[in-house]
Amino acid sequence: MRRATVGIVGAGQLARMTAQAAISLAVDTRVLAKDPSDSACLAASILELGDPDDAEVLTRFARGCDVLTLDHELVQPALLVEIERGGCHVRPGGDVLRFADKAHQRSCLQEMGFPVPPFARAESALDVIAFAAVHGWPVVVKTATGGYDGRGVFVVEDPAAARRVASELASRALVVEPLLEIDCELAVVVARRPSGEVVTYPVVETFQDDGICLETVVPAMLEPALSAMATDLAVRVANAIGATGVLAVELFATPHGLMINELAPRPHNSGHWTIEGATTSQFENHIRAILDWPLGATTLMANSAATVNVLGGVGSVDPVALLPAALAVRGASIHLYGKSARPGRKLGHVTALGSDRGAALTLARTAAAALKGPRSLSTSEEGHGI
Ligand code: ADP
Repeated sequence: MRRATVGIVGAGQLARMTAQAAISLAVDTRVLAKDPSDSACLAASILELGDPDDAEVLTRFARGCDVLTLDHELVQPALLVEIERGGCHVRPGGDVLRFADKAHQRSCLQEMGFPVPPFARAESALDVIAFAAVHGWPVVVKTATGGYDGRGVFVVEDPAAARRVASELASRALVVEPLLEIDCELAVVVARRPSGEVVTYPVVETFQDDGICLETVVPAMLEPALSAMATDLAVRVANAIGATGVLAVELFATPHGLMINELAPRPHNSGHWTIEGATTSQFENHIRAILDWPLGATTLMANSAATVNVLGGVGSVDPVALLPAALAVRGASIHLYGKSARPGRKLGHVTALGSDRGAALTLARTAAAALKGPRSLSTSEEGHGI
């Protein structure tokens, strides 16, 4: 029987880990990479180099696959819609990918009745200042598209800063929000098949610094009712937008209740723990979901699982050189993405399971610190906001 071929647009670490999961299911992966040194290039069954913004390249690529999926959101949704109209399966589809635009996402979710932070679209410093006149300073200004890992997110303290940020981001569509009081940040990873079957993973607590996720811990330390509410919210969003494949729903837990921060229609950093910690990883469930195959169980297989990201630092050593020291930490599972080291770049992650949150975190941090070398700083279990 002919094997299924999944086409992945983009060749970052998510494509690489998806390709790893595909091997066990005898699914071939065809990756469209911009650069032969991209993370997933060596992991894919078939590698193609090309620009996903080029309609001809993307259409030809899609025709060579049973289903097309995405490693990142930097693809034009209209192009995906066009390809779907041509008869190819695109999961997530172009309409779901439109949610990568934060302004569109906030307004659609609000119209559908989901809780989102107060927000406004902004095109100038005047718009930002007008928003702050109602909601107070400081505010958070974000580029509507193209931002990730906190790039494109700015805390703006006063009108002078608003003018500075607006002129720096001139001509970009912006979203402005209050600087929220956040008790903790959560993520719910959902997998949904086109035929409607949905599974959810346990709610994860995420810790960021400077807008970038540093650590995740599961289960989140929440009242059971709040945890159930977060899960229910994520499932309702996945159904409402017709998500196919994995969808991560990032949430803020605030004194005013849960609010949706962001949707990511693909495997997500907050689900990396599932490789070792869940019965079925988010990557395998993504493949199963986009192929419309039965989804796997999502049970957490220990009391707790923690993941610590390995980021490049200024003057830090390539983690590959430090691998033996990290491997000596028994019980920690190391993942390196094969990317060249640059400050702030996600180069890998470490997951550990434990009898409780503290045990899992300590083990994962120990191995991650070994990968960062002597210059590494220890991180705190507290989130730092932006
Ligand atoms: P990105 O798309 O780059 O990940 P996000 O919009 O998710 O950017 O913001 C990154 C982080 O910045 C969030 O995880 C959170 O820690 C912080 N943040 C974003 N918006 C707000 C806000 N309105 N109030 C407080 N913190 C925020």
